[in-house]
Amino acid sequence: MQRRDLLKSFVAASLCSAFPLSLAQASARALPWKNWSANQSCLPKSRIAPENIDQLSSILKGHNGTVRAVGSGHSFTALVPTDDTLLSLRNFTSVNPVTGSNQQADIGAGISLQQLGLKLDKIGQALINMPDIDKQTLAGSISTATHGTGRMLGSLSSYITELEFMDAQGDLHLCNKQVNPDLFDAARVGLGALGIITRVRMQNTQPFNLKRVGTWRPYEEAFAQAKNLADIHRNFEFYVIPFTGMTLSDSLDITSAPVTESEELNSNDGLGDLKMARDYLGWSNKARELVLGSYMKTLEPSANIDHSFKIYSSERSVRFNEMEYHLPYETGIEALQEIVNLIERKFPEVFFPIECRFVKGDDCWLSPFYRRDSISIAVHRFFEEDYLPLFKEIEPIFRKYEGRPHWGKLNTLGYPEFASLYPRFKDFLAIRESLDPSQRFANDYLKKTFAL
Ligand SMILES: Cc1cc2nc3c(=O)[nH]c(=O)nc-3n(C[C@H](O)[C@H](O)[C@H](O)COP(=O)(O)OP(=O)(O)OC[C@H]3O[C@@H](n4cnc5c(N)ncnc54)[C@H](O)[C@@H]3O)c2cc1C
Repeated sequence: MQRRDLLKSFVAASLCSAFPLSLAQASARALPWKNWSANQSCLPKSRIAPENIDQLSSILKGHNGTVRAVGSGHSFTALVPTDDTLLSLRNFTSVNPVTGSNQQADIGAGISLQQLGLKLDKIGQALINMPDIDKQTLAGSISTATHGTGRMLGSLSSYITELEFMDAQGDLHLCNKQVNPDLFDAARVGLGALGIITRVRMQNTQPFNLKRVGTWRPYEEAFAQAKNLADIHRNFEFYVIPFTGMTLSDSLDITSAPVTESEELNSNDGLGDLKMARDYLGWSNKARELVLGSYMKTLEPSANIDHSFKIYSSERSVRFNEMEYHLPYETGIEALQEIVNLIERKFPEVFFPIECRFVKGDDCWLSPFYRRDSISIAVHRFFEEDYLPLFKEIEPIFRKYEGRPHWGKLNTLGYPEFASLYPRFKDFLAIRESLDPSQRFANDYLKKTFAL
């Protein structure tokens, strides 16, 4: 055998024997991890990225401590941090059509939504709906019920038709509506607490183009028309731009027209202007509204057409921290008006738009949309500014309207509140206990959430 062959077979042998590889991948020196906005961090002892199911199983079988799955680190809540092992499925990125199905695909759980959009397009499929960025992984997204907007469109979790995950003992579980249906309803939004999701089967659709129209409207017109507009358009959302009296809405509808030339959408340009207006005109709400609001009133609607998997997401290089609650559809707009009033009365330093989206109800036990059509309202603070004073005053309004927080976005709730907001919370906990009795997938945050 040649020397090179010898080397190759040595490498192949070590690839097949999973645990030695996982040890090799675990960094010798602990390196800090932080999430996108840097409000969460930890110093994990090791970081592991298995190449395949066998390696993942060996890792879980050969390790006793805590293992937290990590996606792209785009959650603001402390779902990920651990001082033990961080496990990434970034090597699980395959996308295969399901033979004989109507536009379903089996997808490696660690793929980013951006990669997924491109790969689905190549096999003649597209996600039915998407959030406003595409950096998240599929597993990370479904674990927190990540959503886009659309009166008749659910969260990403609601389009899962089958799920495969590995429990703390290294055993694989498969669930769908027919096989282990309770497990399926629990695991589609699982916060990384039930196991490591390895494969997700998604109901998709054929590729489509969307036409986006951006329209400026005064507050009162937008509040009065929002539900009607959400009924008319496939996707509809709007942003209230505080201290301007104006809103900007985005409506997206399917079109057979070709993609138009347009500059890449960059939400940062507008934010820079709003921050500058806050910095120079923040001393007078009236001056701010006069300058910004009057200018916005002169703006014409804008339009562009793109592939669905490209048009939903924008670049977010201006970092922020965020609180988002999902409110009953019936009272969401009223809650939004209350929030805008509060911000304009007490928080002149806020310049980020307040985002309002529509999401259809579903039947995943821990989905904030569980059996409830919802209006989602998100408030943001620039990442270098303290979000606590604002979020502390906004959260009681969300709570008053029986809002359920986005699992990946900041909130102060714990076990008693979640147990009363989610009718199947205790059923979820029973399944968690059966799959992971020694709490190997639980970190401090989940222990508080589940009262472990
Ligand atoms: C700029 C920005 C824009 C955003 N826009 C939206 C939006 O439009 N709509 C929306 O709903 N949300 C949005 N979010 C929130 C984001 O979609 C969620 O927090 C999502 O969960 C992040 O995915 P991730 O891949 O980064 O996962 P992480 O944040 O790394 O992890 C999230 C959860 O998934 C678990 N997890 C990850 N991989 C696995 C696995 N293989 N098996 C089991 N569990 C796993 C983790 O343990 C953790 O509990 C946004 C966030 C940011 C920062």
